[in-house]
Amino acid sequence: PQVARLIAAGEVVSRPLDVVRELLDNALDAGATRIALEVAGGGLDLIRVRDNGCGIPAASAALAAERHATSKLSPDGAGAALHVTTLGFRGEALWAAAQAGELHLLTRPAAQVGACEVRAHGEATQVARVSAPAGTTVTVTRLFAELPARLRTQLAPAAEVREITALLGRYVLHHPGLSWRMVVDGEPRLTHAPADPRGAVASVYGPLSANRVMAVEAPGISGVVSRPELTRTRRDRMHFSVNGRPVQAPPELEKAVIEGFAELLGAGAAPLCVLNLTVAPEDHDPNIHPAKQVVALADLPAVAARVRAAVSAALAAHPL
Ligand code: ADP
Ligand code: MG
Repeated sequence: PQVARLIAAGEVVSRPLDVVRELLDNALDAGATRIALEVAGGGLDLIRVRDNGCGIPAASAALAAERHATSKLSPDGAGAALHVTTLGFRGEALWAAAQAGELHLLTRPAAQVGACEVRAHGEATQVARVSAPAGTTVTVTRLFAELPARLRTQLAPAAEVREITALLGRYVLHHPGLSWRMVVDGEPRLTHAPADPRGAVASVYGPLSANRVMAVEAPGISGVVSRPELTRTRRDRMHFSVNGRPVQAPPELEKAVIEGFAELLGAGAAPLCVLNLTVAPEDHDPNIHPAKQVVALADLPAVAARVRAAVSAALAAHPL
């Protein structure tokens, strides 16, 4: 029942940013190594994510946009949602996108000869066999076009695009080994070829920032942190992921990074950091928030202590 409540909780899609996050998560879950995001009109006109992942077999393509359709839970269903390792598992994202807008899906597993094209909106679903490259392209158009009340609460397109760009940046930073591309209103905004974490910092924040980061490596922690001279007063460049999912950093983790610098940081300063944390699935509950950006870590103080130690060790290993 708790899982049922969590599954029902919240609105899956309340703004373009939510759709983008769900589609990117699906591409990652599909094992894609190339992911391209296209946005027009702040995401209200069009959101498209194209990937070279596993595709959806013809037999299940028509069902992908059904509510609670997911290929990511074992038959014991709900119980498994507490230990999922995929980013998605509720089976609601495509369904929600097809309700809030018009969903177009083009998908083909590499081993299947033809591709499936699915159009879904509201109750209606149409399926056709077409030809297409292996992988999946999901397009959502006219988001909230029929929901004026929802439309009124949206940010201006430029503001939404800023947040979508920041979100994509976080995915790039946490998955630097993949190819990423973002196009906004027909203009290329970001291109990233597979690289190490420093390369991802270069793609997202520029080469100057990339030259000033050092590696952080410790059991269960990997990533980069900037040298003390490259610090800001805002914490908007502190990024964390837990088991591959970018998360909103608990303040305790931000504090741990800053404390790792000890007296090297000026008062109120925050470094740039990208830290990927690995914890045992049972120590981590991704269900807390419907948007899945907030994590609950079973033993936050212990994780924070590990982060603090890893950052001090990185500083000690790279004397200024
Ligand atoms: P969830 O991710 O929670 O399973 P979604 O509504 O996001 O639910 O997607 C429904 C199903 O459609 C997924 O379980 C998956 O089988 C399939 N799917 C969606 N997007 C992709 C994709 N990009 N590549 C392969 N399969 C996908
Ligand atoms: Mg999903």
